[in-house]
Amino acid sequence: MAALLEAAGLCKSFDAPAGKLQVLRDVAFEIRSGEFLSMVGESGSGKSTLLQILGTLDRPDAGDIRLDGESLTGIDERRRAALRNEKVGFVYQAHHLIPELTALENVMLPQLVQGKSAAEAARRAADLLSRLHLGERQAHTPARLSGGEAQRVAVARALANRPCLLLADEPTGNLDEKTAREVFAMLRQLCREEHAAVLMVTHSAALAEACDRRLTLREGRIHSR
Ligand code: ADP
Ligand code: MG
Repeated sequence: MAALLEAAGLCKSFDAPAGKLQVLRDVAFEIRSGEFLSMVGESGSGKSTLLQILGTLDRPDAGDIRLDGESLTGIDERRRAALRNEKVGFVYQAHHLIPELTALENVMLPQLVQGKSAAEAARRAADLLSRLHLGERQAHTPARLSGGEAQRVAVARALANRPCLLLADEPTGNLDEKTAREVFAMLRQLCREEHAAVLMVTHSAALAEACDRRLTLREGRIHSR
């Protein structure tokens, strides 16, 4: 089966006071459709940088990425933004929900941006939230949600537009161990049902081991096992 995402020869450096900081040296790997991958690596090894590049939020200095058969490097910003909205979902360590909106409205928002009707967006949002065991929390604003609940809402928002790829940057990093396991289990189950592939950065050896495959970012390169 063709890969959902193929990265080849990715390089990225930043200008630093001491000179060029080469973060990604030659990153190559692939993600198959529906696969659940973890990515581990020391702090500062470039995991977030790589996720930003894979999600079209940043550009590599060299190399190519193909997502769902389309090259991300030769296309303009408008096409990149459209691809991002259509095919990629993001979850971060902090939930980044909009504080004035309810859980339901937060999950509706990306769908409204994509042009869905309010009724359709609300239906999809309510369905996702109930499958994440948040049916009773739909009308809560983020301040009235626990940390684990807020992260589950962030997961629902990331999946609202039916992306084929979810990029998760330490999504359980702010949670205690038990809550982290629960959020991980629900994330995994929902992504399986939604046929979304996942690349999840984590510092938890236990969670990394529970994934289909583990990528390690070390010295600017990806090692897979
Ligand atoms: P990780 O997520 O693995 O902890 P990051 O991708 O955040 O690592 O960062 C990798 C390295 O690149 C770090 O040394 C960081 O300081 C540096 N870096 C990241 N983003 C920038 C930037 N916009 N400008 C300069 N340096 C950056
Ligand atoms: Mg990071």
